[in-house]
Amino acid sequence: SPSPPSSASPPIRGSLSRFVSTLVLAEHEGGLVKQSSLSAIAAAAVVNKEKSVTVLLGGSGLALRKAASHAASCHPSVSQVLVADADILVHPLAETWAELVNFVQHQGNYSHIITTSNSFGKNVLPRAAALLDVSPVTDVVEIAEPHLFIRPIYAGNALCTVRYAGKGPCMMTIRSTSFTLPSCSTETKSVEAPISQVDLSTFDEGSVPKSRWLKLVSQESERPDLGNARVVVTGGRGLKSAENFKLLEKLAEKLGAAVGATRAAVDAGFVPNDLQVGQTGKIVAPELYMAFGVSGAIQHLAGMRDSKVIVAINKDADAPIFQVADYGLVADLFEVIPELIEKLPDK
Ligand code: FAD
Repeated sequence: SPSPPSSASPPIRGSLSRFVSTLVLAEHEGGLVKQSSLSAIAAAAVVNKEKSVTVLLGGSGLALRKAASHAASCHPSVSQVLVADADILVHPLAETWAELVNFVQHQGNYSHIITTSNSFGKNVLPRAAALLDVSPVTDVVEIAEPHLFIRPIYAGNALCTVRYAGKGPCMMTIRSTSFTLPSCSTETKSVEAPISQVDLSTFDEGSVPKSRWLKLVSQESERPDLGNARVVVTGGRGLKSAENFKLLEKLAEKLGAAVGATRAAVDAGFVPNDLQVGQTGKIVAPELYMAFGVSGAIQHLAGMRDSKVIVAINKDADAPIFQVADYGLVADLFEVIPELIEKLPDK
């Protein structure tokens, strides 16, 4: 088993000046690398066939050490795990993390820096790219070659192929729904890659802008995370009220699903905005996506059109959602949802 990172751990020698090497900025929770970051590691493995992926984790204490062990064993391409152990890195403050990426890049000289296109990645990577004077490539859905990527444009209505021709490291965010790891990778297995501590003695906290972590306000839910759920049931303006969303929650419980919403439902105050799916919300690609009272605006489709099976229930037969649906039901959702709840077996 690995020796836990300590101040006596060796400095980052393994990756110094390597020509092709990939740094993945990863998040962790409960002692495990987050599923979304595992997708970034999977993408890094596509870029870097030479099995020299370095995973960077920040934070402190036992949770960080456990996550480092998980990162070291989660994919054969991971050749090194770097842990930046500092209290200021426990919370993902973008300014601090961007400085950290800049700091680690100057030591490791990585050819690629990859993270997930989520609130963490979208916050940190562009700032780090600015510090390194690089143009980042965002929302990559396919890696054709180490510097040739495919990404959606026009709210997902077209795909464009982008060649990175910059001088600095190639920095990118990837869509986690496009790069998945086998499910066993969420468990810690025998540890393979070495774990090293980032020597932060010269990391200049003073240069970090004066932003401060105050608190995290999050919705506690026993249901799966919207971004990773196998089944998503989404409600639109057609649900008409916050009270009616409780009906959808009952259905979600039966299906072991996450609840999503359209922006219209969020704007109307039916649900909090972390449930929003779409261009300006979360991007999801579950096995099954069920849309109730959702018209299927282009901005909503941008966030769910890659779902494996799409089921739409809408009382308007001309609603655009039916153009992307695999199964469509022209019906009143207030009749369909109670019937589904009644007929489905308990989870
Ligand atoms: P509506 O378009 O009002 O549709 C409601 C549907 O419910 C209708 O089709 C109606 O027939 C049906 N309905 C009503 N009652 C019933 C019933 N009893 N039974 C069955 N069906 C019923 N939207 C997003 O969702 N996500 C985004 O990220 C997003 N980003 C945006 C970004 C920008 C820059 C802009 C301009 C817009 C964005 N939007 C986004 C908003 C988007 O354009 C639509 O306004 C929104 O998706 C519509 O939500 P809706 O389908 O719930 O509402």
